[in-house]
Amino acid sequence: MENRIYIFMGVSGCGKTTIGKLFAETLGAKFYDGDTFHPESNIEKMAAGIPLTDDDRYNWLVDINKQARELFSSGQSAVFACSALKEAYRVLVAQQIGDAVVWIYLKGDVDTIHLRLKNRKGHFMSPELLQSQFDILEEPDSAIYIDTALDTNTIIQTIVKKLTKSEFGLVGLGVMGKSLARNFAGKGISLSLYNRFIKGSEEQIAEKSISEYPELHSAVGFEDLKSFAESLERPRKIFLMIKAGEETDTFIDELVPYLNNGDVIIDGGNSYYGDTQRRILFLKLKGIHFIGTGVSGGEQGALTGPSIMPSGPAEAYKLVERYLTLIAAKDKSGDPCCTYIGIDGSGHFVKMIHNGIEYAEMQLIAEVYVYLRYAVKMQPPQIAAVFTEWDKSELNSYLLGITAALLVKKEGDAWLIDLILDKAGNKGTGNWATIAASELGQPATLITSALLARYVSTIKENIRVNGEQATEHNLETISLPEIRDAYRLARIVNHQQGFMLIDEASKKYSWDLNLAEIARIWTNGCIIRSAFMEELVLVLKKDSNIFENATVLKQLKIAKSGLKMFAVSALQYDLSIPSHLAALDYLNVLMGNYATANIIQAQRDYFGAHTYQKIGDSTGKYYHTEW
Ligand code: NDP
Repeated sequence: MENRIYIFMGVSGCGKTTIGKLFAETLGAKFYDGDTFHPESNIEKMAAGIPLTDDDRYNWLVDINKQARELFSSGQSAVFACSALKEAYRVLVAQQIGDAVVWIYLKGDVDTIHLRLKNRKGHFMSPELLQSQFDILEEPDSAIYIDTALDTNTIIQTIVKKLTKSEFGLVGLGVMGKSLARNFAGKGISLSLYNRFIKGSEEQIAEKSISEYPELHSAVGFEDLKSFAESLERPRKIFLMIKAGEETDTFIDELVPYLNNGDVIIDGGNSYYGDTQRRILFLKLKGIHFIGTGVSGGEQGALTGPSIMPSGPAEAYKLVERYLTLIAAKDKSGDPCCTYIGIDGSGHFVKMIHNGIEYAEMQLIAEVYVYLRYAVKMQPPQIAAVFTEWDKSELNSYLLGITAALLVKKEGDAWLIDLILDKAGNKGTGNWATIAASELGQPATLITSALLARYVSTIKENIRVNGEQATEHNLETISLPEIRDAYRLARIVNHQQGFMLIDEASKKYSWDLNLAEIARIWTNGCIIRSAFMEELVLVLKKDSNIFENATVLKQLKIAKSGLKMFAVSALQYDLSIPSHLAALDYLNVLMGNYATANIIQAQRDYFGAHTYQKIGDSTGKYYHTEW
């Protein structure tokens, strides 16, 4: 182990000497009491109750530094106790030793320490000087903070724990970070945990999580970045689970000064894939690896096993593969639902499309619910029973299962679902997915329709048009098997569009993505896991466009009339079913003989001489007509 100079700091009476000595014994190192370095003149002043000036302290601090430097340069570790209340004092004491000085700050409140001082016998320091020490105290930015109220044994154990290097670091103990930390720790990985410190609101967050969850008891908590970084084995592996966007950039800027060549940062937040690519390049210049990874599964998945979609430099992935695969969900064969997605920001791209598919899957279930509730006139528990039944079949999916469960929840005498405001939120990934699809020229109509349905729901309160509702007599509803066909088919379309979009990005950006492997890691742990996703693993091994698969094609043909009847019936009831309509419309274009694009081409050629191609002309020649 490298030699270090450990300095216990804090006001008089905080326990520096007692704890310092005990710690030195634990280490088998020499102990030096800073007070013994004071010249006679300083001792006389303090005994007379006169506060020391900075001039008085200068030679004292220089002498301590001299002793510490000698020990350090002779390869020894040593423990000092020294109040070092101001940053300038600490700079003096640590000069020419630098990072090998480990500051341990014994923090306590004035009243407790004053009481201790009064009970202390035979010390030259007068208790009345205590307030003057608190007045000048500048708490260190970088130190191991120890609460002096703890008993001595706990203090020593905490310090030893904080000085033992951890295998893996995790930043951000919000909803996801806390669950991931518990998952990592439960798999036997030694952890350092960091959460930012904000006075009054975000204090001791890591420590609180550690005491709250038994599996985290061996983890070490930090709220100063330098100590956190120093607590990690090298190359460091640091997993960020913090707010995506500017916050992630700012945090990386704060962290990087404490990192070394070859360290790896893994960003598990929902970052934009373009930002991930930029961060990979920026950090490469500094010799630091960056892995951007999608994580899906929500709070529970993060705890029991999420689906993980990492990308970035392959050599960096190798360094963290063991950790990510260890905490990931397992597929039916027991393989981890974590795979190296590819280079650049491809992992976050794939996660973004995952979320887009999720938007549409949720919307499709919501549309079936609306039909069953307001056209078929079923009550929530009856609808839950239908969904539960479907969930036992090839329609099984996590989202269908949770919808069945939420529909039977009551609040008082009411169904909770009836009390929830009809206004959907979003955190931006559906928007990004829609933009990406558009940029790639891909018709992700289900993702887009589901996103826009959420937007429409938010303006409903402001712009409510009082129109006529459908007069319901003479209207007939369609059968459950037909509704089932409609839903099944719309889901197929949603997945076909999603995977086609990923395939297009793979080609455009030369990512060489493995669609079947992506489907495989989505078979468990993530929000869009389903029986159909399991089918797709096999289908995508053969066909990247799932509509080219004979089995899928057969299902399309069988279920199309159900989708059509569902659409017609729902529209007659004035129900909003945009994602089923988008699926039907998409199929009408792909499967039908009559489309609109020939008229569009003719119009474009008419006003802009944009040219057109002709049916049956295999040369692909472009024509222009003087209309
Ligand atoms: P929370 O809001 O619960 O937690 C956010 C975390 O980020 C907190 O630890 C917070 O610290 C920290 N944080 C916020 N701003 C900063 C900052 N400026 N500097 C340092 N830390 C900061 O969110 P989640 O846990 O739900 O999400 C975390 C990330 O995971 C996000 O990127 C999210 O998109 C992504 N994600 C979330 C999923 C989910 O289901 N919730 C699923 C998959 C990914 P503090 O406590 O101090 O505020």
